[in-house]
Amino acid sequence: MKDNKPEVDCIIVSHNNQDILSVCLDSIKSQSYTSYNAYLLDNDSTDRTAEFIRKSYPKVKFFDFPKKGPSEKRNIGMSMSNSKYIVVMDSDAALTKDWLKKAVNYMESHKDVGLCTGKLLTKEESIDATGGIFAKNSGATDRGHGEKDVGQYNTFKRVAYLKSATLIIRREMIDSIGVFDPDYFYGSEDTDLGIRANICGWKVIYNPELVSYHLGHNTMKKKPKKQETFRGYRNVLLTYFKNFQLKTIITYSPILLITFIYWIVSKKYRIEILKAYLVTLFNLRDLLKKRKIVQSKRKISDKELFDIVDFPLFIRNYNKKKNKYLDFIKNVKTNKIKSLVFFITTRCNSQCKHCFYWKDLNKSKDLSIKDIEKLLSNFYDVNSILLSGGEPFIREDFPEVIDTIIKYTNPHLISIPTNGLLGDKILKNMNEVLQKYPNVNFAIDCSLDGIESRHDYLRGVKGNFRKTIALIKELKDLKKKHHNFISIATNTVITKENIESLPELINLVKSLDIDDHFFDLIRGEHKGLLTLPTIKELKNVNALRYKTRKYYNSKRHKNRIKKIYANLRDRHVIITQIDVLEGKKWTFKCTAGVNSLILESDGSLRICELQPKIGNLMENSPETLLKSEQAKKLFKSIENHACDCTHICNVSSSMNNSFWDIIFNRIFIDSIKKRKYFD
Ligand code: SF4
Ligand code: SF4
Repeated sequence: MKDNKPEVDCIIVSHNNQDILSVCLDSIKSQSYTSYNAYLLDNDSTDRTAEFIRKSYPKVKFFDFPKKGPSEKRNIGMSMSNSKYIVVMDSDAALTKDWLKKAVNYMESHKDVGLCTGKLLTKEESIDATGGIFAKNSGATDRGHGEKDVGQYNTFKRVAYLKSATLIIRREMIDSIGVFDPDYFYGSEDTDLGIRANICGWKVIYNPELVSYHLGHNTMKKKPKKQETFRGYRNVLLTYFKNFQLKTIITYSPILLITFIYWIVSKKYRIEILKAYLVTLFNLRDLLKKRKIVQSKRKISDKELFDIVDFPLFIRNYNKKKNKYLDFIKNVKTNKIKSLVFFITTRCNSQCKHCFYWKDLNKSKDLSIKDIEKLLSNFYDVNSILLSGGEPFIREDFPEVIDTIIKYTNPHLISIPTNGLLGDKILKNMNEVLQKYPNVNFAIDCSLDGIESRHDYLRGVKGNFRKTIALIKELKDLKKKHHNFISIATNTVITKENIESLPELINLVKSLDIDDHFFDLIRGEHKGLLTLPTIKELKNVNALRYKTRKYYNSKRHKNRIKKIYANLRDRHVIITQIDVLEGKKWTFKCTAGVNSLILESDGSLRICELQPKIGNLMENSPETLLKSEQAKKLFKSIENHACDCTHICNVSSSMNNSFWDIIFNRIFIDSIKKRKYFD
């Protein structure tokens, strides 16, 4: 029965559930992974569970623990086993055939994951849970509960907790943070374990590839409602006050109070709810003792945790359409990787004279989809992914690359720059992914550095200009068919060699009637065939650049405030670029490595594309690399503004991280500087 794989002990707790146990045990028996033991921990059942197990499932190790609650029984089970992984299961749950195999494989390749489970479905195939949400007002709920499964939860996610109906646990984690809290008896013990794992630095992962079933809640249905209500509320309060930092508790105390009043006024079993609060209060000493132990093991602050994992203010606003303005304010100081530049290939069919990546082009084979899975499985919920290369569309398996990106990183936006040479393939691939992922936004950015032969000369390919123009026209037709194709833009790299023809190019792009036109200054270690214009030359075109930016901002934003915000941002980018060239420092901090990362096609990680590699994700996690001595030194020099640059993407994303810069510098200081910078 055993093979050479890591051992897994499956611990099932049961009480008078003999009638449904065979579904659970058969699902374990038919697993494609065979290196496991199954334990059934009973509690004084009177329905002949013991005889049934001994007769029908002789390989299942049966134990009776009278008067022990499920949490305690699971702990006893874990103390009896010494396997590398433990799977806890409810007696009314069932695993799909490859659940154990996939779960162990995932845990083996993600050593920082402490807890993992996947999509838990009901017998009617609707969603029971896809991970848990814990709110700052102390409410908790199962993500997706009651929804029809239409693939809306098919991406990996770091979550607050996972339901213990089917849950794989890393023993090393249990050894370091402890087991289920036995005082919970039943209910929310998994919430508590998940939050403890999170604050102790372990990842708690919803893995959509692990599908299991929660068939009937038989155990719960047989419990008296009042007792369950009391226990449910008490356990949630314990979880809150044991695990969160004092600062968090004080900050959110007004909403805790409002929630308490709301529950007392609106819920059915209000006496039990009141009792739960009073019992928590009267047992404060015990609570504080437990709290001291939990806090002594803490590795990350609540603030850091809230940046990475969703902890909404209230459960009810979790699924509501996000308020863009509130989100913007919330995100200003977030320490979360929000954007990833991913070089999906080193192959390119252009020979651009300004290319800063030219030394690495066409040298190595592309990463396989399996390699991409390995790399991207380190990232969760990245807001935007910018594909880079090489020419991204050169990959034959471009749609599969997109599948993998979406499965692991769940982006809101995928932006793709292109040299425009592979017209038909670009259109075919875009049509496919736009259709397949209606909830993901896509943007295409076509390079245009000059008109006709100037563009072809700068890009090193004859006919490139005409092909790009033809592609843009076709993309516009495609955009009309897909609401999630949100932008077609062009990007121009400004050099001494094209600065004079910029007005002509801007007019041509305007005539194409697309969504945007961006400008970047030549940067990085290019071939040395082109040069950066002088400050004077740049100042000469600043007014035109700004006017063009204002034109596209008006086109994009109907809302006046958004338009003003975008104009001020773009003016600030231009001013910052000139400041840097004149030797001045950024008026804001760079957020490279904090909010954004560069992932190269061999797995190398960079804080930004102008900085050296800090290691390879094939060997280490991003967290390890970002805490390395080399990364620390880089962060220090970035903090000291040693490398302030002119790269438009980094400048504009970094400056959104400072309220002072947004409100004061952009409005007041730039208005003064404007006269000097816009000739
Ligand atoms: S298309 Fe991009 S990667 Fe290719 S040569 Fe030009 S700048 Fe370099
Ligand atoms: S300032 Fe520029 S070069 Fe330095 S880390 Fe930030 S983006 Fe990179």
